[in-house]
Amino acid sequence: MKKLSFIFCTLWLNAQESYPVEWDVVANIREEGFQRSEIANTLSYMTDVLGARLTNSEDMRRAQDWAVKEMQRIGLNNIEIEPFMDYGVSWDNTFFSLHMIEPDYQTMVGYPIAHTPGINGRQKLEVVRIDIKTKADLDKYRGQLRGKAVLASPQVPIDQNRYRDGVKRYTEEQLKDISEKPLPKSPRGPRGPANPELVGSEERNAFFKAEGVEVILESRSGWIAAVRGFARPGAKKDKWDRKETLDHLPLVAVTPEHYNRMVRIAERNIPIKIDIEIQTKIGRKRRQARNVLGEIEGADLKDQVVMLGAHFDTWHASPNASDNTSGVAVMLEAMRILKAVGVKPRRTIRIALWSGEEQGIHGSREYVNKHFGNPTNPNVGKKGGYDRYSAYFNQDYGPGQYRGIYLQDNEHVRQAFTSWIRPFKDLKMTTIAAQSVGSTDHIPFDRAGLPAFQFLQDRVGGTGGHTNLDFYDTIPIEDIQKNAVIVASFVYHTAMLEERLPRKEK
Ligand SMILES: [Zn+2]
Repeated sequence: MKKLSFIFCTLWLNAQESYPVEWDVVANIREEGFQRSEIANTLSYMTDVLGARLTNSEDMRRAQDWAVKEMQRIGLNNIEIEPFMDYGVSWDNTFFSLHMIEPDYQTMVGYPIAHTPGINGRQKLEVVRIDIKTKADLDKYRGQLRGKAVLASPQVPIDQNRYRDGVKRYTEEQLKDISEKPLPKSPRGPRGPANPELVGSEERNAFFKAEGVEVILESRSGWIAAVRGFARPGAKKDKWDRKETLDHLPLVAVTPEHYNRMVRIAERNIPIKIDIEIQTKIGRKRRQARNVLGEIEGADLKDQVVMLGAHFDTWHASPNASDNTSGVAVMLEAMRILKAVGVKPRRTIRIALWSGEEQGIHGSREYVNKHFGNPTNPNVGKKGGYDRYSAYFNQDYGPGQYRGIYLQDNEHVRQAFTSWIRPFKDLKMTTIAAQSVGSTDHIPFDRAGLPAFQFLQDRVGGTGGHTNLDFYDTIPIEDIQKNAVIVASFVYHTAMLEERLPRKEK
């Protein structure tokens, strides 16, 4: 018994020696982050004043100029707006209104889909219900749609559970489960060949255009009151082209309950009329999309870098307070805290506010390719920064507080992270989860063999990203305060190590 506990103690002490916690620095970080937090102000400015930030929009350009000023105010060095790819023309919605005027008056909630054109002035249009699945269905509607608005998608099933049950924080039991077993991956069965008779959305929209339709209405969200608005089908393929955008029909997403009301009226063969106006501003010149970066310079190892970041771009129907303005606020606040407490990190600490994440993780991928490279990809190769890179920490799973961190299948960092979460036990930051998680800006780093991590975050209420309902008011400010403190400490400790953070063997 004695011997066992001796061995246990030795192991524990070893872990502490290799990856010590600098408790005095943690105390300073906690004091600054909890007693003089500026995160609510930062989040409010971004969501209330800057608003939505669609990649490459004028909104985004304005916001990036603000980010530069904010980084200057915090006292960062080497602040830079770095272009990363040719990203087509800008698109901004400048005015929208939609009302049902027959058979009953109702203000309708909707939003234009990105990279679609506006319409000429304010128009009153007859609305018809369309049900097109196969090529044969097209014939039913030929010659009948000129000058009309079409309800192009089927009635949307409403997700009632979401409203009845709400969203709950993780229980200790659930966290234990996550730490012990991998998250279930949804199995991918064999995919049958695509049915050549089916009509895809691009083909369907082109048919509407050829038939003289004025505007396409659709609803693809089952969340009450929410419009989930993305981009025009095909926009990514034609690289957000001006001509393709102008040639397309106006396309409007409507909340499911308003949309379904129109569908049900149409199914009774009762005429529907809407009053609609859409104004958009479409750029004339193709431009580069850009990331914003800033640094706290390191000391003896200043050529090496530890990074933290979040995507600054959003979808366009709201300021997207949760996705991902909350992540950006956390990372900016973490940098502010580190500057305010006057840390002198050995390695350079660099913040990145990415763009083009929502369209396919473009900003971070291009950044990794350019600065670090990818030795396993012969088209990219290894770049100068590869060996001078230590780690990247990202936030993009909503505004919930950190309850742990995912190892991203890198067992070699378990010891470090086990040590560094110790000062945050009181904040319920306790879980080390082995598995890899995906779908955001740490992935390009991970794919290149570079350590990059997402924290395990509580699921909290609010309306979630990609909707018209994602505003300041639903963000749990205390949660993101804690996150800023935790990520500041993780980044600091990574920057102070003797060695770079260990990488996966393979
Ligand atoms: Zn996101």
